[in-house]
Amino acid sequence: KVRVRFAPSPTGGLHIGGVRTILFNYIFAKKNNGEFVLRIEDTDQTRYVPGAEEYIINCLKWCGLNPGEGPNVGGEYAPYRQSERKPIYKKYADELIKNGYAYYAFDTPEELENARNTIENFRYDKSTRMTLRNSLTLSAVEVEQLLTQGVPYVVRIKVPEDQNIHFVDLIRGHVSFDSNEVDDKVLLKADGMPTYHLAVVVDDYLMKITHAFRGEEWLPSSPIHILLWKYLGWEKDMPEWAHLPLILKPDGHGKLSKRDGQRLGFPVYAMNWTDPVTKELAAGFKEVGFLPEAFLNMLAMLGWNDGTDQELFSLEELCEKFSLERVNKSGAKFDYEKAKWFNGEWIKKSSAQRLYPYVKEVFKEKGISVTEEQLVKVIDMVKERCILLPDFYQQASFFFEAPQQYDIDAVKPKWNADKAAFFDAYIKHIEAGEFIDAAVLETEFKQLAADKGLKIGEVMLPFRIMLVGGKFGPQVFDIALALGKEETIRRIQTALP
Ligand code: GLU
Repeated sequence: KVRVRFAPSPTGGLHIGGVRTILFNYIFAKKNNGEFVLRIEDTDQTRYVPGAEEYIINCLKWCGLNPGEGPNVGGEYAPYRQSERKPIYKKYADELIKNGYAYYAFDTPEELENARNTIENFRYDKSTRMTLRNSLTLSAVEVEQLLTQGVPYVVRIKVPEDQNIHFVDLIRGHVSFDSNEVDDKVLLKADGMPTYHLAVVVDDYLMKITHAFRGEEWLPSSPIHILLWKYLGWEKDMPEWAHLPLILKPDGHGKLSKRDGQRLGFPVYAMNWTDPVTKELAAGFKEVGFLPEAFLNMLAMLGWNDGTDQELFSLEELCEKFSLERVNKSGAKFDYEKAKWFNGEWIKKSSAQRLYPYVKEVFKEKGISVTEEQLVKVIDMVKERCILLPDFYQQASFFFEAPQQYDIDAVKPKWNADKAAFFDAYIKHIEAGEFIDAAVLETEFKQLAADKGLKIGEVMLPFRIMLVGGKFGPQVFDIALALGKEETIRRIQTALP
């Protein structure tokens, strides 16, 4: 059975690259009737940020990408938080040492610092390991002594010399590394915690992960992981790897970063994230006004397409059509204007009922409470004009509150007594008649204008501005009808000079 995992480190907010990794994991699991596991990789206590795990889980909820197993839902392979699995890893580190694939290193921070200062481009590897204080250079007796004395140590992998480490990546094809370029990474730290490298391999094995999707930035770590799978005797159970292309800055130069968002004025996080230490706020797609379906659709298209011109895909459709063969190898440029385009298209194609809870929030934040019936009607009238959810306020607030300001400049220069008289007459006209059909209202309005010898355009624009305050909004007579007779009259009277 297909089992995939999303394995974030809770070190801060979730960048869109992370969400895209989740999305591809999720789609692949659904497509193959598999399971999607959330695993929190929190073994690096120095980088742990309080609140980050909760934030990640909330993001998954907002996107609707809920894991079948994870710290918040449990599962057969619990616990799913690596810090709670600490005792598991030591056994495997010991086994690696016993079999000669790893070794104890007792070097103090000062000794390492010294090595860094005296050896050019210092790396802990085959060229330096025999000059340092570890179980390869010390006698068995010395090692035993240091261990019983409780002298701090780390466990390092012993990377072999002159080997070609290779695997077939589902996206990149054949990938190979020269083992001489790989250093002896730490597997177990002095505090007994595994590093990411050991924990990721042990957990992928124990949790029976079949496919591991992650960002391309992890490609350089893969030789260590491949060696560990081999050294632990699990090679035949190794997941298939897929390293997803980077998301690039809009100009294509380098990986998109949090700073780019701040610099260029667009979100790169899924949801607002406030760093608990610096209190710095990184804006999120949710709060800027994206629909989750548009956000996911946009992310899927960063590096994938189905081979046709189709750009709008629902999550179900993505699960159906997705194939790894169509994921690009090269990075995908992020384009915020295009991201907004996706949202506008999704707003257009969503039903008013679907949009209602989001639009209700927008109005609530502005202190306007409206009934579902009222709002659903209005959403249908203005959704064509909305790109981001807050646009619904600009486009539709006039239905619920009279304009506070008028675009006077659009009317004033050409205002005259004839027009004022027209509106006086129009008020009388509607007071007397029925107010139930927009088409009828339009015909009557036009007739009255003709009777007064006015061109329709001369009075239509002032009428719109009286009702909504500016040159925007749907059909004027649809607006008047939605406002009702009394409110329409009141707005004309208020606005008349
Ligand atoms: N913990 C790693 C991260 O923060 C996971 C990398 C992987 O999926 O192997 O992205």
